Amino acid sequence: MLQFELTEDQRMMLDTVKRVRKNVIEPNAKRWLDGEFPYENMDALAEIGILGMAVPEEYGGIGASVLDTVLVLEEIAKGCYVTAMAVLGEVGTQCRILSHYGSDELREKYLPKLLKGKCILAICMTEPDCGTDLGSMKTNASVMNDRVVLNGAKTMISRAEEADLFVIFTRVNNAPGTKGIGCVFVEKGTKGLTADACYHTMGGENLADVRFENVEVPIENLGLGEGSLRKLLGAFNTQRCLNPAICLGMAEASLEESIRFMRDRKAFGNSIGDFQGMRWKVASMLTEIEAGRSILYRAAATAEPFPNPTLAAMAKIYVNEMSIRVCSEGVQLHGGYGFLDDFAVSRNYRGVRYGTLGGGTTETLRNFVGRELVERMDLETGVAGMGLF
Ligand SMILES: Cc1cc2nc3c(=O)[nH]c(=O)nc-3n(C[C@H](O)[C@H](O)[C@H](O)COP(=O)(O)OP(=O)(O)OC[C@H]3O[C@@H](n4cnc5c(N)ncnc54)[C@H](O)[C@@H]3O)c2cc1C
Repeated sequence: MLQFELTEDQRMMLDTVKRVRKNVIEPNAKRWLDGEFPYENMDALAEIGILGMAVPEEYGGIGASVLDTVLVLEEIAKGCYVTAMAVLGEVGTQCRILSHYGSDELREKYLPKLLKGKCILAICMTEPDCGTDLGSMKTNASVMNDRVVLNGAKTMISRAEEADLFVIFTRVNNAPGTKGIGCVFVEKGTKGLTADACYHTMGGENLADVRFENVEVPIENLGLGEGSLRKLLGAFNTQRCLNPAICLGMAEASLEESIRFMRDRKAFGNSIGDFQGMRWKVASMLTEIEAGRSILYRAAATAEPFPNPTLAAMAKIYVNEMSIRVCSEGVQLHGGYGFLDDFAVSRNYRGVRYGTLGGGTTETLRNFVGRELVERMDLETGVAGMGLF
């Protein structure tokens, strides 16, 4: 039977996160627009266990499902994009790669700290000359007996200046193409590693250039050798549900703010909420949000431990694009006030633009879904089969 209800545990968890959002996160959301890292909010979320969502129970974490993580990120993003992105770094792909492919020593050292908010993780994939086209990656890890020597450069890396541990997608032993890609862990302070947060984004956070010059680490830090891109992208499918969860939260917040505003704001002797043109806007916003919520929750619910790639890609495409439309309408409905930093709809509009760019661009995901359809669709089960019913 299809279930569309949250469980009692999920509702209790969301009530707790909502309290932190309302009391701690939301009142200061504007403060993080200048690139400062929201440590205060992270501490408050660590206190209620949220930063341990992706940490396995044996290390003191919750080992939460992808769906639970989606619900929590959605709730946090309703209050602050920058904070939701900071939390994504802790409960997303990099923690899952560390938990699945990190050495015992790295897991024991970092996972317990992570859930207390005392360890920031950065994931380094994008390079100056390649983002989507991972097969053109130049960063290389040379394996020399019991050591690995890393050289290369990454760009647009989130949380790199704050990071304690870097999860790095790299070519291994100069093996060519996508088949040559593996993953290395590098600890902060390792000789030859530099991170310079030289970019400021329209969402509010800073991004960094990260360089590796003869960075030497023990062989145990080679999490995955060459030929591992499929495994790494498996973990990355989680991000394809978590990134849209943030966008969904911002779309919801923009709708709620719009309802509040349209009830109060007067024009031509009426509340603007009395105008049919305004009512149609919010009706469409909610319709789109609910469609997005359905596909996203369903994709997240397929995770074992990582979500179904086709559903996750479709969920990300739809929710990312839907939330840009909804947040744009939120600005429009607020008139000129919608353009001011002080208004949440303005901050949401800026933050939500990240969705279609990070975690797999919309174009790449459409390429993937299109390929699945043309090359693999089973015409016996047809469209229903693609949706896994
Ligand atoms: C806020 C933010 C945070 C980020 N954080 C991180 C991080 O922590 N770690 C990290 O590694 N990266 C991070 N990035 C970088 C992000 O992952 C890349 O920007 C993204 O992967 C796209 O790569 P690119 O910018 O090099 O664009 P390109 O790959 O150069 O693409 C440019 C355009 O061409 C399109 N395109 C490319 N190939 C095709 C194709 N085959 N068919 C059709 N269209 C195509 C793309 O969709 C895009 O529209 C972050 C980016 C942002 C904005």
